[in-house]
Amino acid sequence: AKLQGRNIWQCYTGQISAPTLEHISLRREMFEAIEEQQFVVYYQPLVDARTGEVRSLEALIRWHHPERGMVPPNDFIPLAEHTGQIISIDQWVLRQACLDTVAMNASRPHAQSVAVAVNISPIHFRRAGFVNEVQQVLAESGLAPYLLELEVTEGVLMSGADTVIKQLDALRHYGVRVAIDDFGTGFSSLSYLRQLPINKVKLDRCFIEGIDHQRDSAAIVQGVITMAHNLGLQVVAEGVEAHAEWEDLTRRGCDFLQGYLFSRPVPLIDVMALPNRLPV
Ligand code: C2E
Ligand code: CA
Ligand code: CA
Ligand code: CA
Repeated sequence: AKLQGRNIWQCYTGQISAPTLEHISLRREMFEAIEEQQFVVYYQPLVDARTGEVRSLEALIRWHHPERGMVPPNDFIPLAEHTGQIISIDQWVLRQACLDTVAMNASRPHAQSVAVAVNISPIHFRRAGFVNEVQQVLAESGLAPYLLELEVTEGVLMSGADTVIKQLDALRHYGVRVAIDDFGTGFSSLSYLRQLPINKVKLDRCFIEGIDHQRDSAAIVQGVITMAHNLGLQVVAEGVEAHAEWEDLTRRGCDFLQGYLFSRPVPLIDVMALPNRLPV
């Protein structure tokens, strides 16, 4: 993590520049991708920091392109947001993730049900009718609302606060949970969280990376955990890759951990085969 200007921590984000020919063809190919079922949802477990038990799965889209091979989300999500195609992509992922989670839980009737976390792009989240859409997917799939968690980035909260709070209240009323993704990059906003009906914050990976050698990253991690807990929120650390990070985060009171140390994002069939409790 690098400090940029006043109170703004800069982590790497995919950025989209002016439209190029490449973008024009990608845009067309994204339309085909949904119809031709080239998208797949992979799942990465989030574990209880103290017990290692799998508590939820994050749904992460993968694009198996017929010629380009595997296209990573950072190479097409920003463009899909730019063109508006992200709305149909997110809707597809949401539906698939709910159906897969129902199947996953049915396959392990004696274990505690796992929840699923789905990334929702800001332009999709802010749209009128979003909450109805979520309700409909839950009804169709039969997933219990409290097993669905929506991940929105901090950026969502900064703009159009009124609409966003209305959406959050409606979701809360319905029993759906909300997590703030990539948390920490706008550090000054923690006090603002107090007013919002959210359940969790996900600490951005760039802070976890630096936890053992950058004193400011460790301080931010500790500050976020303490303040989030005081506000009644749970904390997830993303990108946990090393055993030392696991120890450090657990000692600091982090609630959930996610990262390659436990599992990479994998297809549904592989996540179903994971044990209920992951070793480190
Ligand atoms: P994100 O929501 O912050 O997701 C976490 C990213 O970190 C994922 O990258 C995941 O594979 C990666 N990751 C997890 N553990 C580790 C680790 O230990 N080390 C490292 N180096 N990386 C780790 P991925 O799958 O490439 O996704 C990138 C971004 O694309 C996501 O970031 C999210 O913003 C976006 N995205 C993915 N799927 C969707 C989707 O269905 N809808 C929307 N709107 N965005 C999505
Ligand atoms: Ca996420
Ligand atoms: Ca994240
Ligand atoms: Ca991200």
